[in-house]
Amino acid sequence: MKIKQLKLHPIAVADGPLRSSYGLHAPYALRTIVEVVTTDGITGISETYGGDGPVAALESVRSRVEGMDPFQLTAFRQYINAQAVEAAGGARSQTWLVPGENPLDTHARTFAAIEVACLDAIGKALGRPLCDLVGGRCRDRVPYSAYLFYKHAGGGGMGDDVREDEYGEILTPEAVVRSCKQMVAQYGFKEIKLKGGVLPPEEEIAAIRALRQEFGPKYPLRIDPNCAWSIDTSVHVGESLKGELSDGGYLEDPCAAIEGMAEVRRRLLANGNDTPLASNVATTCFAHVPVAKETDGVQIILSDPHYWGGIGAQQKLSDLCEVLGLGMSMHSNNHLGVSLMTMTHAAAVCPALTYACDTHYPWQTSVDEVIVGGRVQFEKGCVVIPDKPGLGVELDYDQVARGEERYKKLPYRKRDDEAEMCKHVDPNWKRILPRW
Ligand SMILES: [Mg+2]
Repeated sequence: MKIKQLKLHPIAVADGPLRSSYGLHAPYALRTIVEVVTTDGITGISETYGGDGPVAALESVRSRVEGMDPFQLTAFRQYINAQAVEAAGGARSQTWLVPGENPLDTHARTFAAIEVACLDAIGKALGRPLCDLVGGRCRDRVPYSAYLFYKHAGGGGMGDDVREDEYGEILTPEAVVRSCKQMVAQYGFKEIKLKGGVLPPEEEIAAIRALRQEFGPKYPLRIDPNCAWSIDTSVHVGESLKGELSDGGYLEDPCAAIEGMAEVRRRLLANGNDTPLASNVATTCFAHVPVAKETDGVQIILSDPHYWGGIGAQQKLSDLCEVLGLGMSMHSNNHLGVSLMTMTHAAAVCPALTYACDTHYPWQTSVDEVIVGGRVQFEKGCVVIPDKPGLGVELDYDQVARGEERYKKLPYRKRDDEAEMCKHVDPNWKRILPRW
């Protein structure tokens, strides 16, 4: 079996006006659907970041991928790593860059997109689920968290292509609780995450307390301000929410850089506060993991098959976390069902991943979904590994074509939350870290 053709489908997916410390989500998120078509007529698929950068990176390996044996992924990884920018050494924090736009992760992202499509093709050739190709699963169902955002009114899309605003405006503790009740009722999530760093810390503390009040101690809580806080503010929030976050939840990237995280950790521990710190900013690649351990700046690594280098990389990270005594969770970006199934198979083969994974899936709709049969269903907050080959999903090519049409009409080819914030909320807005 050889790869005959690499096909790339840049698509646009409607997205609501969600807020974070990066700014504002644009009316459409950009994604790329990848296909590898083999000589025996099997098509493997994956989904990755979108826009000109990711598409160009995938185009740059086309000549290496076409003609490749999809089983020979180690040699392909060596090839792609040799092309990578390694000059920056350990200086790879994503603090200033929205995920998917860090040029230093390009090789890992590109490899991941090809690796997953190859594994999907191999799974389809052998008639086995993807997770069974890499050692088999340690869990049959993967739990996800209710991933809450502050947002303005609107459901995403533009002109005559707007989506229903399912959750409405969310800018108060009451609205946060309301959106969470909606999400938990619909999906059955058992853990809750709030994307913070948007409103003054006292308002976000109030939102977490309101969630605890409403849902009780059985729902672990986490908050992620994407580095918007100073070290002092991080310690203040950590102390204020000690009861809420230390009980199976975590405090995610309260401040920038591993040194800052380590200082927050030292000060919390000195107060007898063992709330774990999680990160997808101070730790974005394997070189960061031992540093996280040595400095004790991060206790829970947020993995992500899309930019850590695919399913194999997830397993290595899981092993490393076990060896170093670190926890593991999973980061997400706006995505559709192909990515959701990738995350699900990835989580299924990582024993160290004991927290519910993040997912943006509730923020997208069936109008934009590209898999046959419509949206992936959740059972009590979990995605069940389907008894189907590969990822377990197939592309609906009419839906892919609609996504490509939306993409073609868009004036932008790069995620830029700061520009969106200036356009729609505050013309003078700048990303300032720390803001509080
Ligand atoms: Mg995060």
